[in-house]
Amino acid sequence: MPGTMSFDELKAAVEDQSIDTVVAAIIDMQGRLMGKRFYAKNFVEHAWQETHCCNYLLATDLEMGTPDGYQSTSWSGGYGDYIMKPDLASIRKTPWAEGTALVLCDVLDHHTHQEVPHSPRAMLKKQVARLHDLGFTAASATELEFFVFNESYEQARAKKYRNLTPISPYNEDYHIFQTAKEEGLMRDIRNHLAGAGIPVENTKGEAEAGQAELNIRYADAVDMADNHSIAKNAVKEIAHGHGRSVTFLAKCSADTVGSSSHVHQSLWTLDGKPAFYDPQAKHGMSQIMQHYLAGQIAYAADMTYFFAPYVNSYKRFVAGTFAPTKIIWSIDNRTAGFRIVGADSTAVRFECRIGGVDLNPYLALSAIIAAGIAGIENKLPLPAEFAGDAYAAEHADNIPNTLLDAAAALKNSTMLREALGEDVVNHYCHAAQWEIEEFNKVVTDYEIQRGFERA
Ligand code: ADP
Repeated sequence: MPGTMSFDELKAAVEDQSIDTVVAAIIDMQGRLMGKRFYAKNFVEHAWQETHCCNYLLATDLEMGTPDGYQSTSWSGGYGDYIMKPDLASIRKTPWAEGTALVLCDVLDHHTHQEVPHSPRAMLKKQVARLHDLGFTAASATELEFFVFNESYEQARAKKYRNLTPISPYNEDYHIFQTAKEEGLMRDIRNHLAGAGIPVENTKGEAEAGQAELNIRYADAVDMADNHSIAKNAVKEIAHGHGRSVTFLAKCSADTVGSSSHVHQSLWTLDGKPAFYDPQAKHGMSQIMQHYLAGQIAYAADMTYFFAPYVNSYKRFVAGTFAPTKIIWSIDNRTAGFRIVGADSTAVRFECRIGGVDLNPYLALSAIIAAGIAGIENKLPLPAEFAGDAYAAEHADNIPNTLLDAAAALKNSTMLREALGEDVVNHYCHAAQWEIEEFNKVVTDYEIQRGFERA
C-alpha cells in the first residue's frame, strides 16, 4: 500500500478528530494535484466513493485557460464532469498540513465509468500493465531539482519574479556548510515527506546558488510518479509555510543552469530478479537492457515533448551545464542524454538526463516504458557506446531543441501512437501547439530592449 493509512484508519482518525480535512486530488496534464478539500466527515461518509470535477482539468494549461480544439471537451461540449475516483490505497497524512490527509483519485468518464485515456495516471498504468505482460516491472526514480528563494511567493510575485535572492549566495553543490544554513526548510521537507510515506533518500545542495535536489527512493513507476507529484506540491507548501518560495521551472534565469528531473530506471522480473544485469555481458548490461536502452535512443526525439513540455523547457539544453544536448549513451557520463549507472552490478540502470523538473512524471515514465517495450519487442540493436564529452559529439543526433521540433516529433511518432493511442497523442500534440501559439502572441522584454531604438 503506497499510502500510510487504510480507509478504516482514516475513519478512526476522523472519529477521534485527529483528521478534520481530506484533500482529494487528481493529477492534471502538468503533473499537478488538482481537486478539493473535504470536510473529513463528509469524505468518509460520502465522497470516498466518488466525487466530481470539471473535465477542463485535463484540457487546460498552467494558467487554467480554456483552449479550443480539444476533442475531449470544449465550450460546445458544455465542459461537463469527470468522476474523481479516490484510490483508497493512496491515503496518507500530510504532516505539513495540520489535521489533513490526502487521497489521490483516478479520473473516470462520467458515463462509461472507464478511466479517461489521456489522464496521466491512466496512461502510466496502461504502460506498466504492458510491461507486466512481458514479465517485468520498472524500478523508477525521478529526481527533483529546484531553486529556493528568500522571498515569499507573495513577495516574489510583487517583484514580477525578478531580482530574487537565492537562499544561498554561491554554488552549493554537495556543500554541507551552506546547506546547514537551509536546514530549517530542508529538514522539514525530508521529515514531512517521510511522514507522508514518501521514501526520501536525501536532499543536497545543487550546482548553482540557491539550487537544491531532492532524491526519493526508486519504486514501481506509478508509486514513483505519485511520490514525485505529491513531493513537488509539498515542497511548495512547506516553503510557503517558511515564508520562502521555490520554483520548478526548467530554466528560471538565463544566467544560471536549469533544473532537471533525471529519470533512473531498471527492469526487474516478476519474481524480483534484476533483468538488466548479466554478469557475463559487457558492463553487466543484459540483452534485455540493451534492447530497452536501444528503444530509448531510437525514440528519444519522439519522447522529448514529455520531458520538456513548455517553451521555457528548451532553454535548459545548453552545452556545458550538465543538461544534455545529444541522443547518446555512455558509461557514468553526465554529458550524455543517457548515462549508465551501476555498471557491472545488480543495480545497473540507465539515467535519462533529458527531462527538466517541469516534466509530468506520469507522462515521462509512460513514454520511457513505451520506448523500452518497443526496443524489446523489435529486438532493436544498441548503437555504439560513446565516451568523452558528448557536447562535442559531431555525429550524434541532437535532442530536439525547440518545442516546435519536439511537438513535430511527437506528432509523427508511430511508436507513441501505437503505445499510447491515437487520441491520446493528438490530445498532447494539441497541448504542445497551444503552448507554442500562446508564446508566439507575447512580445518579450528582450525584443523591446533589442529593437526599440535600433531596429
Ligand atoms: P547518482 O547520484 O549517481 O545520480 P544516486 O545513487 O543518487 O545516483 O541514485 C539516484 C536515484 O536512482 C535514486 O532515486 C535511487 O533511488 C535510484 N536508484 C537506485 N538504484 C536503482 C535501480 N536499481 N533502479 C532504478 N533506480 C535506482
